[in-house]
Amino acid sequence: KYDTFNVSKKMQKQLPKRIMNLLRLLGAYGSERKTPVYVVGGFVRDLLLNVENLDIDIVVEGDGPEFGKFVAEQLMIKYVVHEKFNTCSLFFKDGFRIDVATARTEYYESPAELPKVEVSTIKKDLYRRDFSINAMAIKLNQETFGTLLDFFNSKKDLEEGIIKVLYSLSFVEDPTRILRAIRFEQRYNFQIDEQTCEYMKKTVKNEYLEKVTGPRIRDELEKILKEPKPLKSIRRMGEFKIISHLFPFSYYTPTLDKDVEKLFELYGYFEKNYKQYTQNVRFLHLLLFVLLQYTPEETVKFIEYRYGLPGNFYDNLAEARESFEKLNELKHPQYSHFFDCIKILNSEQIIFVAVKLKENLREKLFKYFDKIENLELSVNGKELKDKGYYGKEIKNKLEELTKKLLNDEIKPGEERKYI
Ligand code: ATP
Repeated sequence: KYDTFNVSKKMQKQLPKRIMNLLRLLGAYGSERKTPVYVVGGFVRDLLLNVENLDIDIVVEGDGPEFGKFVAEQLMIKYVVHEKFNTCSLFFKDGFRIDVATARTEYYESPAELPKVEVSTIKKDLYRRDFSINAMAIKLNQETFGTLLDFFNSKKDLEEGIIKVLYSLSFVEDPTRILRAIRFEQRYNFQIDEQTCEYMKKTVKNEYLEKVTGPRIRDELEKILKEPKPLKSIRRMGEFKIISHLFPFSYYTPTLDKDVEKLFELYGYFEKNYKQYTQNVRFLHLLLFVLLQYTPEETVKFIEYRYGLPGNFYDNLAEARESFEKLNELKHPQYSHFFDCIKILNSEQIIFVAVKLKENLREKLFKYFDKIENLELSVNGKELKDKGYYGKEIKNKLEELTKKLLNDEIKPGEERKYI
């Protein structure tokens, strides 16, 4: 027994015409082939939440790839089969893509591994999903088009704003769901259900996150960082002690939280006012500079390897740390000190340094950016060469003049007097 509603009117009202036509067409093909066809998961969740989502995941009770092939032939579009997962993707001419899967039950040979797949019915397919809110389907076949299948009280959880797993071992079977729970909770401003919180904590404590491969964790972290308000998710990860299980020796203390908060604030400021420094920045690397700033070298190297960070990650972190420590010690900081410091750093390091500077120095750093941007030397390398400067001497002299100008030790236009 389960709840059914018909949501075809809602679909009609909310979805773009061509999506609606496509879904009806898929249903008609399903009926022609006597195959039950459903749209499932995030699409259904967001339809009920009135949130736009055009990621269409189709599940059929039958052979997914075979149905996909039939549809592709009818519509004369491209399709690609993913044998291993018994799924396929259809590619429309305008780049639009939909995925077609076979209803399946996944079983896990051992915890935290990718699932093995077995053919099954829609209910079992939905049961293996992460949270109740993601476990609804809408039937697309002609006769029953728009029937919402809600086996697990998903609609109620959506209405009450609750993130809930469907069975107790959910997190053990796939610990990346721990990060997904937090992501959805923050995205929709929902609450993770109490029992689900307990399962999460237990799974974290029993070190199941450590069993997941680095790239899978990294993917979920990147997804969290792409959400509009990642700071809250990171704090939540701190509360659940997830940070120290992903990054050994990194404890989410109030001090660390202040730095993370500053990072978000400053990153926004950089994006608005100093965009050139954010252009090639990977925000995850930046966040990890902050989270791993007190972590011992050996551990950082291990983390580097586990999550596929650049090989010079530790060295860059150490170099940036040295830079802000040096600046923070200065009694009378001058622009030339910033110049010496900044010239050896990349953008990620510069932003991290900005986070770690004392307030007055940080203000001076931004003034330095403005100053250096508008600074123009009235002599150039060629002129110095003609005067007999050679090789490195030229670069050194130009830098010396730049620093003198920055410090107002010489007036613009008077550089020639000093060569
Ligand atoms: P988003 O809006 O972020 O794309 P989504 O719910 O569509 O959210 P996807 O990662 O695209 O997320 O996954 C599609 C569907 O597949 C989900 O709605 C969920 O039902 C299921 N799913 C995805 N990842 C998992 C997982 N780790 N465990 C169980 N089910 C999952």
